[in-house]
Amino acid sequence: MHVTSQGSTPAASSRPPGRPVREEPPGGNAPSPPAPPPPRTPARAASQDGAAVRAALEEEAGLFPSGPENLSPRDGGRIFARPFLGFAAGDDPAWFLVREAVGEGSWIPEEAFARGGAGPGARPAVPAPDLTVLAAVLPQTPETVARQGEATAMPADPWVASKYFHDRAVNGLMLRLAGRLAALGIEAVVPELAEGYGTFPHERWRITSSWSHRHAAWAAGLGTFGLCDGLITRAGKAHRLGSLVFRAAVPASPRPYAGFRDWCLHYAPVPGGCGRCIGRCPAGALSPAGHDKALCRDFLYGTRGWAQGRFPDLPGADACGLCQAAVPCATRAPAGRP
Ligand code: SF4
Ligand code: SF4
Repeated sequence: MHVTSQGSTPAASSRPPGRPVREEPPGGNAPSPPAPPPPRTPARAASQDGAAVRAALEEEAGLFPSGPENLSPRDGGRIFARPFLGFAAGDDPAWFLVREAVGEGSWIPEEAFARGGAGPGARPAVPAPDLTVLAAVLPQTPETVARQGEATAMPADPWVASKYFHDRAVNGLMLRLAGRLAALGIEAVVPELAEGYGTFPHERWRITSSWSHRHAAWAAGLGTFGLCDGLITRAGKAHRLGSLVFRAAVPASPRPYAGFRDWCLHYAPVPGGCGRCIGRCPAGALSPAGHDKALCRDFLYGTRGWAQGRFPDLPGADACGLCQAAVPCATRAPAGRP
């Protein structure tokens, strides 16, 4: 696997030194998705080898919770609970819907894989059917979710710490999985660490990115978007996401939904609807119309002064995520899931 530095971006320059730019669920700049009905996951031959590769990756993910990358340098506790995985075919037509949602600068799997070489175009093109996208959900621990659910004006301490260390944990998991693939002779690329990854201006969404973990997870059957733009998975939306692209055909996960918003009660035909996340937002960034990313980001950045005083050992820390706890979708998918 080839790992390279991220591109320099306007958003990167507004971050504290040394802190990489990352898509922030749900307060980041990844765009709200439109809601066209996506095609179903294409039929794909499930070879015995592909099933074995998938089993090896599942096994490796099971080793992550007690691995060093998931232990907090602060107190030695686990940062995230056991992750779970989803897989999407490299030639799934849904990737073009993702590009439509995220923006023209969004990579399809072939492009992301090619970026993993020494430079753009340096890696020979690999046909899309030979590629698979793996997406991973790293749930917050039950204790962190409970503490965050009690918080109101500012996020709970363990939530701030898990956000601070999420790059260490998420990239650690991705590199762990890529290492397992390498041991099987399979090349892998972590798009977020690939040459040219970055954010770019978008007319409608202000800023968007080359690769969206949330949309990759949606394509891999792991969940759909909530009113607040967080991805509601079978374990809810209190989590972090990671993804990678690798050169092997692995059986795709079922995508048990038809649209981008199916598992959010606000969009489901439930009497009374929901909107609980609206009342959880201290910034007024959520309304029945959706998620105001500018207000959300301003609030997030505004927590830095508070965080600096409270966590002097976590320089540059910021966090919010109050809409991800004490809501019906915090730890489960409340609507639509079969
Ligand atoms: S709290 Fe309710 S409205 Fe908000 S994302 Fe969750 S299910 Fe949707
Ligand atoms: S609670 Fe509001 S400000 Fe905080 S992450 Fe959610 S939408 Fe953004």
